[in-house]
Amino acid sequence: MSIDRFELVKESFIKKAVPAECPEKKTSDYYGELVFDRSKMHKYLDAETLKALLECIDEGKALDRKTADGVAEGMKTWAMEHHVTHVTHWFQPLTEGTAEKHDSLIDYDGKGGVIETFDGKALAQQEPDASSFPSGGIRATLEARGYTAWDPPSPVFIEDDTLCIPTVFISYTGEALDYKTPLKRALKAVSDAAVPICKLFDPSVKKVLSYLGWEQEYFLVDEALYAARTDLMITGRTLMGHNSSKNQQLDDHYFGAIPSRVAAFMRDLEIAGHRLGIPIKTRHNEVAPNQFELAPIYGETNLANDQNQMVMNLMSKIARKHGFVVLLHEKPFEGVNGSGKHNNWSLGTDRGTQLLAPGKDAKGNLQFLTFFVNVLAAVQRHNGLLKASIASATNAHRLGANEAPPAIVSAFLGKTMTEVLHKLLELPSDTPIEIAGKKGKSVGLVEIPEIFVDNTDRNRTSPFAFTGNRFEFRAVGSSANCASAMTTLNAAVAEQLLEFKAALDVERSKGKKLQVAIMDTLKPIIASIIDVVCFDGNGYTEEWKKEAKRRGLDVEISVPEMIKTFTRPESVDMFLKTGVYTEKELEARNEVKWEIYSKKVQIEAKAMTRMAINHIIPAALEYKAKLLKEVALSKEVFGDIRANSTEISIIGDLTSLVTEVAAKAEAMKAASEKAEAIGNEYSKAVAFHKIADSLYDIRKPIDRLEELVDNKTWPLPKYRELLFIS
Ligand code: ADP
Ligand code: MG
Repeated sequence: MSIDRFELVKESFIKKAVPAECPEKKTSDYYGELVFDRSKMHKYLDAETLKALLECIDEGKALDRKTADGVAEGMKTWAMEHHVTHVTHWFQPLTEGTAEKHDSLIDYDGKGGVIETFDGKALAQQEPDASSFPSGGIRATLEARGYTAWDPPSPVFIEDDTLCIPTVFISYTGEALDYKTPLKRALKAVSDAAVPICKLFDPSVKKVLSYLGWEQEYFLVDEALYAARTDLMITGRTLMGHNSSKNQQLDDHYFGAIPSRVAAFMRDLEIAGHRLGIPIKTRHNEVAPNQFELAPIYGETNLANDQNQMVMNLMSKIARKHGFVVLLHEKPFEGVNGSGKHNNWSLGTDRGTQLLAPGKDAKGNLQFLTFFVNVLAAVQRHNGLLKASIASATNAHRLGANEAPPAIVSAFLGKTMTEVLHKLLELPSDTPIEIAGKKGKSVGLVEIPEIFVDNTDRNRTSPFAFTGNRFEFRAVGSSANCASAMTTLNAAVAEQLLEFKAALDVERSKGKKLQVAIMDTLKPIIASIIDVVCFDGNGYTEEWKKEAKRRGLDVEISVPEMIKTFTRPESVDMFLKTGVYTEKELEARNEVKWEIYSKKVQIEAKAMTRMAINHIIPAALEYKAKLLKEVALSKEVFGDIRANSTEISIIGDLTSLVTEVAAKAEAMKAASEKAEAIGNEYSKAVAFHKIADSLYDIRKPIDRLEELVDNKTWPLPKYRELLFIS
C-alpha cells in the first residue's frame, strides 16, 4: 500500500469542526459533578463517617477500616447513580502518565446471581501486578510486592464507567514507587518547617499549604497526517523534517483567533475538566503554529498535580473526537518553539496569608521577605538538583535551545525586589519595611508596593521567576509529572526554613527583638545570594553561560550527568533531613531515570534508522532513477547529455546524500546495539546520550534530501502540512 500524501493533506484540510457537546446548563451547575468532593461527602456519608474522613483529609489521620467501609458505601451509592460499573486504583508510576487496573463491581450474591459490591478494603488498598512498573531494583532486591493505597485528600472521581481512586504506590517495605508519595512527604516537610516561622507572626497558624498553578502547552496535529509519520507515532516528535518557509517568524499565531476545530476541542476539554472539578480557566494559542496552552486556577499542589495528570489524559482522549492527536512532547518540531509546563508555585497559611506576596503592613512585609529570601537561598543551594528534577530525554531538546530557559537554574527577581534586597543590606536591621508610598518619598526606608502582581517586569528567559505573589518554575517540560519538580522545590525550601529557624533562634536568644533578629539572620543570606542565583539579564546569551559557571551555578547539559545530582551528599542530606526520600529510594529512582532515558533514545535511534532505510533512501533513489532516465533519454534523442547539467548535478547530490544517510544510519545502529549491551544503567545512559546527539547529525542530510527530492515522491507529511492544518 502506498501512501498518497496529497490525499491525506486534502482530507485533513477539509475536515470540519465537530461541535462541542455543551450542556444546557451554567458551568457552576455541573462543575465537579463527577468528583466525590466535600458536598458529596455531606450528602452521602453519615455524620460519624464524615467526621472521621474529614480528619483524615485535613489532619492527615490514618483511615481506619470502619470509616473506609462507611465511605465506600456512600461512594457506591453515588457512583451507581452515575451508572458506574467498574472501579480502579489510579496511580502515578515512574513511567509517563497514570496507571489503572479496572475491576468490575460485581460479586456473587450467594443466590445464583451477582450484586454490585464495593467495601472499605477495595477502597483503601489494592495490589496491582506491579512487577512491570519500573522500580530501579527496589522490588528485585527486597522481593517485596507493591500495593496502592487511597490518598484521601485526592478526591475520588468518575471517568466514563469507572470509579477512579487516586492512590499512592509503594513497596511492602514502604519505599515509594511513584510520584505522589514523595510529593506528599515534601508537602508535609515544607508545612512542618514553615509553621514555626509563621507562628512568630500569627500564633494561630497550624498548617502551611503549597500551591501549584500549572500552564500546559501542547500541539495539535491532524490524526491522518500523524498516522503517516512513524516518528511522531513512535517517539512523540518528528525526527526529521525540513523547516516550513513560514513558521513563527510573523508571530501571527500567538494569541490569534483560535481555529474552529481547535476551539471545539478546547470547549469539550473544558467541559470534561469542569465536570471533574478541575478549574480550567485560560485557553489560548501559543507562539508556534498549532501550539496551544491551557491553565487552571491554581490549587493545593497535590490536588493540582492530580488534576494535571487527569487533564493530560483527557486531552489525548478528546482530541481524537476532533480528528486531532495531541502532542505533549517538549519538542515535537525543530525550528519552532517547544512546549513547557510552567509551574507557578507559592506558599500560604491555613489562615489565608500568601507567604510570597507582599504584606499589608510592615510586619506582613517582614514575613514575606523571610520566605522570599529563604526560597531564593534554597534554589541557590540546590540549583543543580532543581534542574535534575526537570531533566528528561524529551525536555533536553527544549532546554537551552534559545526559546526555553537555559540549562542553568537562576532566579529572576525584577527591579523592585532587587532594589529592596540591596537596601536591606545597607540599612539598619530595625528599619521598618513599609508599603511603598505610605510614608511619602523613601529616604532611609525599605518599601515594597502592596500589590505588584501585574506590574512585575517579565523575563521570559529565566527558569525561575518571581511574578509578584509567586515563583514561576518555567523549566518544567510539557510531558512531565509536575510532582518531580514540586517535590524537589518544596523539600529544598523546607530544609532551608529549618536552618533559618535554627539560626534565628540563636539571634533571638541574644535578646534581640523579632525584626532585628530576623534581619540579622536574613542579611548574610541575602549577601550570599544576590550576586549568585539572582540574575535578571538575558538567560539565552553565551555570556550568561560563562558568567553562571563563574558564579558556581550548575551548567551541566547532559541529562545522565544531571540525574547524578540526586545522590550527591548535599542532596541526600537534604532529602533525609526532610524525610522525603531515603537513600535507597534515591538510588533506585536514579536507576529508573537512566533506564527510561536510554530506552527513549534507543527507540528514537531505531525509528530513525528504519525511516532512513525504508522511507527516505527509497524516495531519494526513486527520484534519482527518474532523473537518470531523463538523462539517458536525452542521450538517445540528441546524442549527448550537455543540456542536462542540472539533472546531473542533482543526481550527484542525491548520490552523496544517500551515501551519507546510509553510512550514518548504519553507524547509529551499531552504536545503539553496543550501548544496549552495557550493563550499568548510568554508563548505558551516557552511551545513549552520545547517540542522542548523532540523531541530529543524521537528520541534516535527510532534511537536505527533503529539499531536493521531487515533492510528489516525498513520503512523509511535511512541516508545512503538519503545522498549518487545523
Ligand atoms: P502567564 O502565562 O502570564 O504566566 P497564566 O494566567 O497563563 O499567566 O498562568 C498563571 C498561572 O499562575 C495560573 O494557573 C494561575 O492560577 C497561577 N497562579 C496565580 N497566583 C498563584 C499563586 N499565588 N500560587 C500559585 N499559582 C498561582
Ligand atoms: Mg506563566
